Amino acid sequence: MKLVLASNNAKKLAELRALFASLPIELLPQGELGIAEADEPHHTFIENALAKARHASLASGLAAIADDSGLCVDALGGAPGVQSAVYAPLPLVPGEREQRRAAQDAANNALLLERLAGATDRAARFVSVLVAVRSADDPEPLVAMGRWGGEILAAPRGTGGFGYDPLMFIPSLKSTVAELDAEIKNAMSHRARAAAQMFGLMREAWRLESRGG
Ligand code: IMP
Repeated sequence: MKLVLASNNAKKLAELRALFASLPIELLPQGELGIAEADEPHHTFIENALAKARHASLASGLAAIADDSGLCVDALGGAPGVQSAVYAPLPLVPGEREQRRAAQDAANNALLLERLAGATDRAARFVSVLVAVRSADDPEPLVAMGRWGGEILAAPRGTGGFGYDPLMFIPSLKSTVAELDAEIKNAMSHRARAAAQMFGLMREAWRLESRGG
């Protein structure tokens, strides 16, 4: 089954492709179909994910899946939350998409450290909401959610992953997410937890079987 992925984030796409490898699904990034990114005007991950999935399905005529994700920090009332990708205001600079994304990630991390300066409660969670629709007006969207808790360090550590990974320390692993192998992140992350839930929903409601039965 072809499923349009409503994201153009190359690193997220790689993670989701690995996570969905066991299902008979071909993930097509919407950018490859010439579909522009949807607006994300809402205050919650679930509303934004649903809007993105509907937009991709409407534009492609295919089933679609969207991930809306971010970091929620307790001491900041849940911020950066749905603003995680664009937390720090950054002028639009020319350059490759992935270079701009790296500059934005660095600015976001610097702002987060500034806002948490002196804070003793540094608990935070990565949150991922996955929404899948079979059509733009599907009355029964599949909705899955995963959380991954940790603490925000006072300085970045590690070079893997993306986004806030260098600041997110997972106490049980004694590492930041950016210090983990990609396979370990992909086995434990908020997206992995949401994807596992989504598999169950797709098996039940869409009657998809895993590859090999
Ligand atoms: P989205 O593309 O609107 O879902 O924005 C997601 C943003 O949340 C990313 O740009 C990152 O800043 C942050 N984020 C989501 N997932 C992760 C992750 O696995 N590691 C680090 N940051 C993440």
